Amino acid sequence: MSNQELTARWQGALMDNYGTPRLPLVRGEGAKVWDADGTEYVDFVGGIAVNALGHAHPAVVQAVSDQIASLGHVSNLFVAEPPVVLAERLLQLFGRPGRVYFCNSGAEANEGAFKIGRLTGRTHMVATEGGFHGRTMGALALTGQPGKQEPFLPLPGDVTHVPYGDVEALRAAVTEETAFVIIEPIQGENGVVEPPAGYLRAAREITRATGTLLVLDEVQTGVGRTGHWFAYQAEEGVDPDIVTLAKGLGGGLPVGATVAFGETAELLKPGHHGTTFGGNPVACAAGLAVLDTIAGEGLLENVKRAEARLRDGIAALGHPLVGRVRGAGLLLGIVLTEPLAPQVQQTAQDAGLLVNAPAPDVVRLMPPLNLHDDEVDTFLQALPGVLDKALEGADGEGRS
Ligand code: PMP
Repeated sequence: MSNQELTARWQGALMDNYGTPRLPLVRGEGAKVWDADGTEYVDFVGGIAVNALGHAHPAVVQAVSDQIASLGHVSNLFVAEPPVVLAERLLQLFGRPGRVYFCNSGAEANEGAFKIGRLTGRTHMVATEGGFHGRTMGALALTGQPGKQEPFLPLPGDVTHVPYGDVEALRAAVTEETAFVIIEPIQGENGVVEPPAGYLRAAREITRATGTLLVLDEVQTGVGRTGHWFAYQAEEGVDPDIVTLAKGLGGGLPVGATVAFGETAELLKPGHHGTTFGGNPVACAAGLAVLDTIAGEGLLENVKRAEARLRDGIAALGHPLVGRVRGAGLLLGIVLTEPLAPQVQQTAQDAGLLVNAPAPDVVRLMPPLNLHDDEVDTFLQALPGVLDKALEGADGEGRS
């Protein structure tokens, strides 16, 4: 099928909830993807931070095919080896005793945290303005983006949203009635927004004082994305009660995880929660291949190296449309001096680069963690032309 045919047939077959697809893609390898017409792109979207190792990584391909050939799925009446080993490996990386609940997406990982939080017996919850935690009703109640919530009100639960990064607002909102506070270490969907240094540690102190659980949503920032195994580890003394993961963990397969530490891990009891595919052996085998490869190939260091090369290269352009670059590791937001990010997304695509625009003035980069120097350089060489075209287009449209 051609690009045109696939796009036309999309309309008659799939619901319109994502809007018109930007491109039909048919193949991927590392940081490259190809559309149905055979055009090649450098993929800096990576399935919104899903592709930790890029497309078709041999270790993931091998792990998945070996596992599906031996045991593809077991019901939750039984257990297979991959979820046990993956949970053990995750807990080792956190360096703290705990237990893991596996599911299939980020929203579901947050639903797990929501339920665990409610099992404390408290009903009030605190989340952040601009935060994104998923589209299921519980996760949407925690999401701090009123436009996404509005068609679905009333949402479950008593949630207070506080400005992100504001320690005093958090202190004022959290009481001894608060079950949990949920925070992203970096707000990815909101445009790669970072809190001030010390925010997570302050959140830990505030929640500890009221016996409130601290939940960190690392769905986008976790599993090496920021150059740490988990973004909160950049700061000493944070020690959350729950961390939620998904996206990069499955290397392209759907794996979500609610990781709880200490006593919090004992709150879910038989009958409280579950899902058929949670802990699926094939998905967990892919997750193990991802963790092994990140460790074995030194990818946390590669993330930091690639980040520095990207930041230096972008700064060296001195382009008038580029303000500052924010974020950490390979979750970067180029903040534009004008709200032209959707235009840049398009001119980049026309030049063979896939990026996205989570906010009108932010271009987000989420390439694979094993990004090579030549891929960084391809991006940097194309960027000035891409930005110029976006500016020219805006001028053509009578920008004031
Ligand atoms: N939390 C965060 C921080 C996310 O970025 C996302 C997805 N963008 C989610 C939760 C929801 O994940 P999923 O789409 O897998 O449900």
